[in-house]
Amino acid sequence: MQPISLNVNRWFDQVSVLITFLYRLMFTITHALANSRFLLHTTGKARRFWLVHFRKEYVQRQLFVRSGDCRQCGACCNLLFTCPMLTKQGRCYVYGYCRSRACKVFPIDQRDIDEVTICGGHCGYRFDREDAYKVRNMGRS
Ligand code: SF4
Ligand code: SF4
Repeated sequence: MQPISLNVNRWFDQVSVLITFLYRLMFTITHALANSRFLLHTTGKARRFWLVHFRKEYVQRQLFVRSGDCRQCGACCNLLFTCPMLTKQGRCYVYGYCRSRACKVFPIDQRDIDEVTICGGHCGYRFDREDAYKVRNMGRS
């Protein structure tokens, strides 16, 4: 039978290993968040998912006031990660077949365009600020 002090020491060792692991994990995550756009793009994707599934009217109104054209630059296919459906030629492999709703309606509003701009891209669509303001207030009157 092992002495109690040996068991206690082993337990302390395991706890300290766990604490070190958690510290390193938190450090890595914090570092990644501070130096990347991880949080921005994650929030953007979650926001678009929410809008296309639960705020369909808002999306329709936004599309109504959106102007410009898609330049097919593929910038919106590289937010957070490069979409596996993006070909080497910069084309969407599933275009016209099974793109997600969020892909079909991108950009939904100015925030999406800003997200592309932050990544150094230039979306061909735009939202007139006055129209966008009217759309925001349509549901309130
Ligand atoms: S599915 Fe197509 S449009 Fe959507 S992100 Fe991927 S490559 Fe782009
Ligand atoms: S960023 Fe805008 S212009 Fe470029 S592919 Fe996406 S929707 Fe089209």
